Amino acid sequence: MKMDSMATRISKTRTNNRSAARRALSAVLLAVLAVGALGAFQPARPIVILVSLDGWRHDYSHRANVPAIKALAEAGVRSEGLIPTFPTKTFPNHYTIVTGLYPQNHGIVSNTMVDPSIGPERFTMSSATARDSRWWSGEPLWVTAEKQGQRAASMFWPGSEVEIGSVRPSHWKPYQDDFPHRERVNQVLDWLRLPESERPTFITLYFSLVDTVGHNRGPESTEVLAACAELDVEIAALVEGVRALGLSSRVHYVIVSDHGMSQLSNSRIITLDDYLDMSQVQTIDGSPVIGLSPRPGSSMTNDAIVAALRGKHPRLTVYKREEMPAHLHYRTHHRIPPVIAMVDDGWTLASRPQVLGWQKDGRVLGGAHGYDTNLKSMQGLFIATGPQFRRGVVVPPVQSIHVYELMARVLGLTPAPNDGSLREIAHVLR
Ligand code: AMP
Ligand code: ZN
Ligand code: ZN
Repeated sequence: MKMDSMATRISKTRTNNRSAARRALSAVLLAVLAVGALGAFQPARPIVILVSLDGWRHDYSHRANVPAIKALAEAGVRSEGLIPTFPTKTFPNHYTIVTGLYPQNHGIVSNTMVDPSIGPERFTMSSATARDSRWWSGEPLWVTAEKQGQRAASMFWPGSEVEIGSVRPSHWKPYQDDFPHRERVNQVLDWLRLPESERPTFITLYFSLVDTVGHNRGPESTEVLAACAELDVEIAALVEGVRALGLSSRVHYVIVSDHGMSQLSNSRIITLDDYLDMSQVQTIDGSPVIGLSPRPGSSMTNDAIVAALRGKHPRLTVYKREEMPAHLHYRTHHRIPPVIAMVDDGWTLASRPQVLGWQKDGRVLGGAHGYDTNLKSMQGLFIATGPQFRRGVVVPPVQSIHVYELMARVLGLTPAPNDGSLREIAHVLR
């Protein structure tokens, strides 16, 4: 009996020990599983697709047959215009949108620049200079994202091909103007198809067509509206692709343009040579804003250039860099030319050989941009649609310097120091 009870006790103890061991084992297994699951678990992060439709003036959306753009606007926030930065040209403005910085603070002060501290070669959009990090300051959003553990991808954007602060987007493409539109959209969708741990949360997508047609045919042309309709089809394909991937509840579309477009006229041309001995000066960049400086070896001074041009034509304004109007935020960077000549809305500033060339070719001037940021004609497009944005709201024009802060907020990123303010654009958020 004693033995029996002992045996029972031993067997009970063994059983207890076994179940304790089993419990411990399953606890360990559970812990291992939990850790494994945590490791593989990626929170469903918000995604921002930033689309630029270069040169899309604010009014094109109303005039053109663009059902996809209209549907996005109706489902989200549409601003009556996007107020660009000066000069209202492509490179400075695209880089402002992704950094929140005025061009005088991000260094891309125009599409064409000189900087003797870098070298004699001019920066141009299409040359290797555009891929030289030394021209690019500030922190674009793809760098902010990558530095904070998110992935970014760029289907074209000025600066995306350059290492900035030693960082590049995880995915990017060398710029190619004739790269087929649908392939651009499909590339974005392919990136979105990547597994969660590799999927970019910030993606840029760029189209130049509307700007090109706006230059050639003018902003009032039927051709520019046809170009808008052509890009609208691509936007529709993008939205449909995102829907098919089941990502609509995470994707935020921020659709912008870099500037508007003004109608030119052959009867509104100002010829620099009428007032200035062009053999004594060098120029940089083109109408409607031309930078001037004395040619090396010339006895001409900056003051003499200003004196030669100032007050000579009612549609022509000339400033020394330090006199630039405060609202243009265009004084402090050393790449800003010492003298700046600019013309009123719809006017063209040119050299005599240029004008003679146009006359010879029978060229009818179309459209241009680059003018003062206060002009309505320079305002672009801004639509924000997605779960964190308000729905069916139209807001007054917003400034492009605030878009970086907005996108950083949507992505849950801490923005780098910049000239924008979330407070100024928070009204588009839910
Ligand atoms: P803009 O006349 O200032 O509007 O410049 C528009 C032109 O900029 C386009 O037609 C493109 O050829 C060019 N462009 C736009 N993005 C890029 C880029 N990432 N790299 C090189 N060129 C570009
Ligand atoms: Zn542009
Ligand atoms: Zn343009």
